Amino acid sequence: MSQNLKAVKGMRDLLPELAEKFRYIESTASSTAGLYGFNEIRTPILEPTALFLRSLGDTSDIVSKEMYRFTDHGGEDLVLRPEGTAGVARAFLCEGLAQHLPLKLCYQGPMFRRERPQRGRYRQFSQFGVELLGVEKPQADLEVLACGYRILKTLGVLGTVTLHLNTIGDQASRQDYREKLVSYFSERKSELSKDSLDRLEKNPLRILDSKDPSDIALLKEAPKLHASLSEDAKTFFNEVTEGLKLLGIPFEVDERLVRGLDYYCHTVFEFTTTALGAQSAILAGGRYDGLISDLGGPKTPGVGWAFGVDRLAELLPERQSELAVISLIPLGQEAEMKAVMIAEDLRGQGLRVELGYSGNLAKRMKRADKLGSQAVVILGSDELIKGLATVKNLKLGTQSEVSISSLGAHLKSLS
Ligand code: ATP
Ligand code: MG
Repeated sequence: MSQNLKAVKGMRDLLPELAEKFRYIESTASSTAGLYGFNEIRTPILEPTALFLRSLGDTSDIVSKEMYRFTDHGGEDLVLRPEGTAGVARAFLCEGLAQHLPLKLCYQGPMFRRERPQRGRYRQFSQFGVELLGVEKPQADLEVLACGYRILKTLGVLGTVTLHLNTIGDQASRQDYREKLVSYFSERKSELSKDSLDRLEKNPLRILDSKDPSDIALLKEAPKLHASLSEDAKTFFNEVTEGLKLLGIPFEVDERLVRGLDYYCHTVFEFTTTALGAQSAILAGGRYDGLISDLGGPKTPGVGWAFGVDRLAELLPERQSELAVISLIPLGQEAEMKAVMIAEDLRGQGLRVELGYSGNLAKRMKRADKLGSQAVVILGSDELIKGLATVKNLKLGTQSEVSISSLGAHLKSLS
């Protein structure tokens, strides 16, 4: 195939089996989120570049190196959305949703980040996320966490999953911590990685997130964030952890968890799995009380998360199709057209029906078997005249003659 007809690097075709897993994950997530009162919002895939520059911060990985950014023919500076929260916040402002607080919204769809493709890391991937706006109490954090937990539980993937939780405090806590961190690292600049030197200038907290071995070694002796927490921040975090215990949701406090984006405060969290190698994060989020005001809106607290559908799909066990397959095999010229009519009638009764299109009986039986058919209905011309068909139950290996008029009821009784 010619080079330029390949899919774009890091972007995948989701063939039916995988697409079906995506559909199942997304519909399970949205019906579970519905139990918590989240309603779906759909925002555009293209957004003005300024939206992400102002919300994510220019030291974030996304803004500094991962955005698909371009100027369109009209000279507008645009980005293929790399995440969902900023778009929801923009919609909140543009659509005047501040009157409807508290507001619970969920979203799903493709996101784009130009990073190095590998298993579980793609340049186009899908997220499902929830945002709870307008509630500053820790009970909102708990509801959002419980919703994420319930979705993972319903999908049956909790086995390899751990919830990591941390607080990055309020503004006062972070201000105090930032100063301590800057003074500690300023004396050890020669040992810091190049990236972290840059972070020291622009956003020192992000050094905690570093994967560089020499940074990690320095971090062992570094001042601890929790020592800088204000009383308010401690009380808030305490309510979240106590609430999780009461809810029976297991978690680990991870003091190094800071999350990559600028808009977080207080609670930050990540559900990780041991089953996907390096791409271990499956659901991540936190509280973002400053986001809406950073975008020029009224001060509006918020808390939310997003999960990666691609990564969850890899964790999901193989799935059986929900509807049993029934295969119709017409034998002889006259039966061919009659089979189309009977198939249509059975579908009208809610059955999933496949037609054996060509080849001899053995070949058609083989195809029916390959499709995983529960039963095969053989329509022979002679039988049809008598209004009968032969039903072979492939699961039990039994066979019976059934009248065409009661075929639907008979086939339904098999499953
Ligand atoms: P990572 O540390 O793996 O890069 P992240 O912190 O960049 O993750 P978030 O921005 O928090 O990820 O996005 C939420 C979730 O979206 C992640 O936990 C992950 O499951 C998924 N995700 C993020 N980037 C990708 C990607 N490039 N391909 C597939 N899934 C992704
Ligand atoms: Mg990332």
